[in-house]
Amino acid sequence: MSILMVANCPGCGKVFQKNLRNLCMNCVKLLESEFDVCFNYLRSNRKATTSQLSIDTGVSEQQIYTWIKDRRLPASDYPNLTYPCNSCSGPIRQEQMCYPCRSRLTREIRELQEKETIRTQSQGIGFRSRPSRY
Ligand SMILES: [Zn+2]
Ligand SMILES: [Zn+2]
Repeated sequence: MSILMVANCPGCGKVFQKNLRNLCMNCVKLLESEFDVCFNYLRSNRKATTSQLSIDTGVSEQQIYTWIKDRRLPASDYPNLTYPCNSCSGPIRQEQMCYPCRSRLTREIRELQEKETIRTQSQGIGFRSRPSRY
């Protein structure tokens, strides 16, 4: 007895047999041709921005972000391709967040860890208190 893993295709909503791409074959083909269009467009417009690319090719910016993040359209090759920061939606070209968001997050994590240390330390011995932001 064979069990078919089926799901609704996130691209077109049709029921399809699950595969690695997690898209039905129609959508995989469509996506590949969209990628070709973008790739060819960038060949002659290397300095296009993400929104320019989206407008001129008709491919959604969301899809283009995925390709930049997957490095199918490496930001290092195309100086103006960006995708939004996970935190503030500002344009970024690497990592998941922009520099200000990352450093804010690092600081917040450090503050949390410091608070944790304070909690577990014996009452205030050798501890230099910092003004609290709260
Ligand atoms: Zn589909
Ligand atoms: Zn940000």
